[in-house]
Order: sequence, then C-alpha cells, then structure tokens
Amino acid sequence: MNVIWFSELNKESIDVAGGKGASLGEMYNSGFPIPPGFAVTAQAFKSFLEKNNIKEKIFGLLKDLNVDNNSELQNVSKQIRDLVLGIEMPADIRNDIIEAYETLNVDKKLFEKAGKALDIIKAGRDPPYVAVRSSATAEDLPDASFAGQQETFLNVKGNNHLLESVKHCWASLYTARAIYYRVKNNFPHEKVLISVIVQKQIQSDKAGVIFSVNPVNNNENEILIEAGFGMGEAVVSGSITPDSYVLDKNSLKIKEKKLNKQEWMIVLDPNTKKNFKKTIEPGKQVLNDYEIKKLGELTKKIEDHYKAPQDIEYAIEGSRIYIVQSRPITTLKKVEAKEEVKEEEEKRDVLLKGLSASPGIASGTVKIVKDASELSKVHEGDILVATMTNPDYVPAMKKASAIVTDEGGLTSHAAIVSREMMIPAIVGTDKATELLKDGDIITVDGSKGEVYKGKIEIKEEKKEVYHIEDGAETITRIKAIMDIPDMAKRIAELDVDGVGLVRLEIMIAEGGVHPSKYIRDNRHEEYIELLVNGIRKIAEAFKGKPVWIRTSDLRTDEYRNLEGGDEEEHETDPMLGNHGIRRSLKEEGILRCEFKALKKLQDEGYNNLGLMIPFVINIDEVRKAKEIFKEEGLTIQFGVMIETPASCWIIEDICKEGVDFVSFGTNDLTQLTLGVDRNNDEIAYLFNELHPAVKGEMKKVIDICKKNKVETSICGQSGSKPEMAEFLVMAGIDSISVNPDAIGNIREVVARTEKKLLLDFARREAGG
Ligand code: PEP
Ligand code: MG
Repeated sequence: MNVIWFSELNKESIDVAGGKGASLGEMYNSGFPIPPGFAVTAQAFKSFLEKNNIKEKIFGLLKDLNVDNNSELQNVSKQIRDLVLGIEMPADIRNDIIEAYETLNVDKKLFEKAGKALDIIKAGRDPPYVAVRSSATAEDLPDASFAGQQETFLNVKGNNHLLESVKHCWASLYTARAIYYRVKNNFPHEKVLISVIVQKQIQSDKAGVIFSVNPVNNNENEILIEAGFGMGEAVVSGSITPDSYVLDKNSLKIKEKKLNKQEWMIVLDPNTKKNFKKTIEPGKQVLNDYEIKKLGELTKKIEDHYKAPQDIEYAIEGSRIYIVQSRPITTLKKVEAKEEVKEEEEKRDVLLKGLSASPGIASGTVKIVKDASELSKVHEGDILVATMTNPDYVPAMKKASAIVTDEGGLTSHAAIVSREMMIPAIVGTDKATELLKDGDIITVDGSKGEVYKGKIEIKEEKKEVYHIEDGAETITRIKAIMDIPDMAKRIAELDVDGVGLVRLEIMIAEGGVHPSKYIRDNRHEEYIELLVNGIRKIAEAFKGKPVWIRTSDLRTDEYRNLEGGDEEEHETDPMLGNHGIRRSLKEEGILRCEFKALKKLQDEGYNNLGLMIPFVINIDEVRKAKEIFKEEGLTIQFGVMIETPASCWIIEDICKEGVDFVSFGTNDLTQLTLGVDRNNDEIAYLFNELHPAVKGEMKKVIDICKKNKVETSICGQSGSKPEMAEFLVMAGIDSISVNPDAIGNIREVVARTEKKLLLDFARREAGG
C-alpha cells in the first residue's frame, strides 16, 4: 500500500504514516476540522529503496562512516541525498500518488459513488495546492522524532512538483544532522523510515498558533492564541508580530488582548495564482471575539482528547476554521501562577539595580574584591563583587555563583566571561562595592538585573516561549564563543557546529604572566606550552568541527596585575591604543609564539583549527601577518576580524590578499562606528549594534566576501541577539557565533529565518 487516507489512520498508525500522519489521522477521525489529505506510506519509501537496489548503496556508505568527522559526514550525506533524488520513482508509487492527489480535489462521498464518472470530474478541475511534509517513523522504536526531518513544502501544485517534493522529503532522512543524531542515539539507520503527508493547502485569511497552556507564565488555566492575517507561515516563522489573546480556560472569557499593527500579509491571488505581499491597514484586530472563543473551545477539546498540553497550528479560510497540526508541548516547566509570583516579588528588598549581563539566579555571601591580590577571598559559591573584573579575575569568577560590578556595559569583561561560564551577572550597578559589605547574604537575579537582600527562593521563569519539536536544523552554522579551556567539553555537548572565537587572553590570565614578560625573559617555550595545553583541550572537545583562535588582543590597562604587567605603558585610551594585530607586529616574538603553538597542534593532527587576527586597519597588517604565518609552517585556515570601520572599507583588498574567512567583531565595530565606548555604562544606552551604520558596513562586507568566495562569520556579542541573527541570515552570513547559553535560542531564530527565506524564494519561483 503506497498511499493511505487520513480517514484510514489513527494514533496507532505511526509505522505506516509516521508521528505526524498518525496524529492527523487521529484528529481527522475524532471529528476535528483537519484539511483532507493522505500519507505516502513508509512502506512506499521502503519499496522505493528496495526496487532500485539503492538500499545496499546507502547502508554501505553509512556503515563505516565516522560521524565525528564533519567533512566525511557532510560528504556521505550529500551522496545519499543525491542518490535518492537522482533515481526515478517506481511507476506504481508514482501512479498511486498522482491518483490520490487528483482525488483530493473531489468530495470524498462523491468519490465513493462516482465510479467511472470520476475521471470526468477530475479532468474538469484545477489541480489543488497541497502542503507536503515529512513524517518520520521507526519500526519497534518508541520515539520516531528525529532532529532534522522537518522538510516541508508549501503551495505545491501539479503532479511533477508534488512528486519532486515527496522525493525531497525522502532525501531529508539523510541530512547530516539526522544521520548524526541516529548514530549518537543508537537508532539503526535501517529501522528508520519516512512517510510523506500530502494535505490540502488552506489559503488562509487568518492563521496562527495556540498554546493550550499559557507558555508565558506556564498558567494551566489560560489559553494563549496568536493570530495574523494571511498565510500562517508569517506567524510561525516569526516574520510578523501577531496579535495575542489570553483566554480563561474554564469560562473562555477573553482576559487580555494585545493587538499588533500588522502592515502586510501573504496571500495567494486567485486570478494569477501567485503569492504576494498585500499591504493592509494596520491596527485591526485579527480574530473577532467569536473566532477567539471557537478556537478556545476547539483547544479544550483537543487537549481533552490527548490529555496533555498542546501546541496547535490553525488556519481560517472564509468562515471555516481548520486545525493544521497539534503536538504536545514538551518544554513547559511548572511554576506558580502569575498572581503568586507577584506576591512573592513584593516581598523582595531590592538593594541594587544594574544591567542584566548574564541570566540566572543565585544566592550567596558577598566577597568584595578591590584588586587581584584579594582574589583568594572568593570561595566556591560566593558572590564576587568588584568595580570591574579583568582577565586576572577568571579563576575566582569560576568559583563564584554570581558576579556584580560597579562599572561596565554588556560587552565588558565581567559580562562576557560570566555568560560563557553560564553564571548570573549584573554590571554597571554604580555602587555595589560601596553598598554591599563582605559577608552580606544577597540574591542576584541576572535576568532582571536586580540584587535582593538575603536568600530568596525565586523560581526561574521559562525562557523559551516556543518549543523546538525536533531540534531545528539550520544551514547557517551556529558556533560558540568560548575562552576557558575547561569549559570546552561541556560546551561541545551542546547543539553547536564549532567555535567561532577563542580569546587567548583568558588562558594568558590563568598563566599569570604577561606575554611581553615571557619574551623579555626569554621564556618563549613556557608561553607556547601554556597555549598548546589550553587550545588542545578545545580542539580535542570539538574534533571534526572548526575552532577559530584569535591572536592575543591585550589592552594595556587590562593586564597590569599579571607578572610583568606593571611595565605596560599608560595610554590615554587603551581601547584605541597598542593592541590587536598592530601590537603583535610590533612585538613579533609574541605573535611567533602563538603561531608556534598552533603549529605544534597542527603537527599533532588537529586539522580543525583556524587562526584570525584582530583590529586590522591596513592591508599591510594582513600581508605581514600572513608572511609570518607561512614562515612558521602553518597551513590551517587564515582569517581576519572585521572590527574597525577601516577594515570594512578595505574589504575588497583583504579578500584579494587571500584569506579563508572574515569574522565580525561587533563589540569594537560598534564602538568605533558610533564613537561609543563599549565599557562606559553611562552611555550604554547608545551602544547599538543594530544601528543602520553598523548593519550597513556588515552588509557591504558580506556582499563583497560572497563575490570573492570568502567565508563570513560573526564573533561579537551581538550574534547572540535574535534581531542581529535574523539580519545576518537575511544578509547571507555563513556562520554565527554566540554565547553558549544562547545557542538553542539563536538556532531556532536562524531556522525560522531560513524557513522564511526559503518560502520567499519558493514563492518567487512560483511566480509570486
Ligand atoms: C569584538 O570586538 O566584537 C570582539 C569579538 O573582540 P573583543 O570583544 O575581544 O574586543
Ligand atoms: Mg574586538
């Protein structure tokens, strides 16, 4: 049986139609308004593999694959997908799909009665638009949902388009991420199959998402409905801000309405059959109160049916409401209802406020650290309070349960390091060292930027509103920013594609000696060993994935407490002074040691390393650094950080000079473009990486790099901001580096943005 209708499926049908198909069948037969459709069965896919004898080839390729070798994994994945796409679909499967597709347009009852007259009815109708979605199955295995099998095609029309889309869904069973996931979770490839759901596409006037439990406060007595005009994808992909309505689940009374000014919607023109963005008058409520209540009723019924909180996609065409999908919400954490949280909040005694630099909550004993000589005061679980931290403070920061500083903005040392170590931090409080005393017990809420008196139990609110069904797959690679070698193993376990920035300064601080001092005292080997040992830990944890190391970027005011640091010159403005590649070229001994450390690791077989140079303003700097790089025998990737406006203006020359990649350092780029000191909390409100001037520079650089086939990336703090990630994906960046705690969230933003780009592309292709 190659094709099976929703009416013949139920929740037990996973091995035939996958999880999605089984759920749609179950809802269809329970009387929920599901758009009609059918599944191309998992068995059809199996017989496709068998009839064409490609099964042996696929499993042969997968048999000895080392999934930890990224290029091998990518290569095998591509070979298999090409194989699946390149082979013609057997005639019986093709005919069954086309037959079912043509029938989809015909009323089911009429179909049963029509007999031979069916051909006449079919011939007279325009082929319908359908949505084509993958639905994974796994024989004998309890959980069939795998990462990376979310291939979906919308507005598919016509036999060829449909058959091609089905094959693309089949091929998506062998994306690199899906293969990797199966191997790591011990799912035999042979046991996993894929069904493809073909469902009538609703041309919605309004659409959106419903959460049967309000995910904002996890209140089980509330339903949250989001709605936008036009096709649902605009809401699901996050490209418009929808209206949101909160309902009381028992009475279905509307408790809250938030109307957003939607200015355009995506619709299909019935005459031209093309999609287009239609301008609409902003300010209108999307759903009328009747529709809100109807959706509330349906939601309650669906939740009752499944006996679990659901996340539901719906669409309204004319006056008809359809349910497009329903799945359990898996990420809800139970917390107190809103009212109770409020009461608790009132009890808090706020001592200080500042910028929330790193999220999380911790209580502990205050330890005021005036300078590095007092660092030994800090014990495991204490709260480190300082004017500002610097790299010397890192060993103590590792022990602290939270960090509070007087000074600093969101890209200051304390902010960056605490985010990487995933400990709560508040910076820019002005007077923490003055107001707090050693031994005080306090609670730090890093998410709110508030310090409370005493030890307070605060339940953390759930961060993600949307849950990711299977772990989003993205084409844009998401990498980590990390500087502390001992964190590498932990960070490598996250869903991350490599490391986009390793700052050597943290390793140097742990070594306790200023790099210039090593050179002055002829202790080159010691410096090299320190770097080799630190970098090796990261390279090892991320084997098979790229790890980009930046040459040291020491500012003269940050390293005074290291041995020999007191000999650093006093500059009027260290931010604009002797640091980055300009310093490395002046003190070539330091640079050569750093290159020698990488050469040692290159010789040990670590082929995943890359190198980049900071604070470039002249092409000569690139040329000179490259020469030394070659002289030291390095053959790893060579890159340049783009973090000065000058480097943006000479980007064409940088590309021509021969670099493998560039990476935006937006902390400096923003500082220098806007003339706003990144560490000055007085003007932190002006520090805006999304300023059109900064974005304009970045777009220009990406365009020129693309033309010259130079890879682009970002390693400044702003890559962790959803708005920046969205902008960069749209601009065509190859990878984004983020703080470890932002990996999941940014991957989801990127996945949604890519989906939107693909949709726009598909629509343009379809003539929209
Ligand atoms: C940057 O400037 O964005 C960057 C990544 O480098 P740093 O923060 O170390 O100056
Ligand atoms: Mg920088």
